[in-house]
Amino acid sequence: MEKQETDRRMKHIHPVFDQIMGREEKERLLNQRGLVLWFTGLSGSGKTTIARHVERELAAEGLLTQVLDGDNIRTGINSNLGFSEEDRQENIRRIAEVSRLFLQCGVVTLACAISPTRRMRAMAREIISAEDFLEVFVDTPLGVCEARDVKGLYRKARAGEIRNFTGIDAAFEAPPNPDIHIRTEERPLGECVRMVLDAVRSRVR
Ligand code: ADP
Repeated sequence: MEKQETDRRMKHIHPVFDQIMGREEKERLLNQRGLVLWFTGLSGSGKTTIARHVERELAAEGLLTQVLDGDNIRTGINSNLGFSEEDRQENIRRIAEVSRLFLQCGVVTLACAISPTRRMRAMAREIISAEDFLEVFVDTPLGVCEARDVKGLYRKARAGEIRNFTGIDAAFEAPPNPDIHIRTEERPLGECVRMVLDAVRSRVR
């Protein structure tokens, strides 16, 4: 943009930083602390299912939450992104930035994204800040996810209709040190949900 044009536009913008309500004030208003739960795991591992149930339970306790689901976000803010390495990284960067906005509002944010590499998750943690970030590894073996095939994507990936599908022809790097490690094939959904709730409750009140 021409400098003249930028100057003309800025002339009508009057930031009022001293009146901006900060995170603490918003947290007091909501009577809760903001937190980001970052759900990582294969497609169909259970990230969204667990997050939705956690959201319901927390709502019943009067806590305000927001679920950010990778699939939903890809149809909106990230609709211009594909599945190349670069686009995947950008997908995660934006989900992390949006999570941070909710966090600054004092909202308990549940971000669900495969986020297959350590590098991506490290970036998300850095954007959000380590003290506000809980990594939830939804650890379900590939065979179980594939048998569930909730969205029919594994069948398509095996048939070569989808390329770079995590677990099939793209790697998933398991988090070595997740804050919460949920092995979904070993426990019913209710127990998986409880594991997350136990970790969250003490941090958000
Ligand atoms: P993701 O969001 O990781 O892609 P989804 O939540 O969409 O995965 O799908 C997970 C599927 O696995 C759902 O159909 C869910 O009902 C099923 N499921 C079976 N057992 C569990 C469990 N213990 N925890 C979470 N999901 C489970």
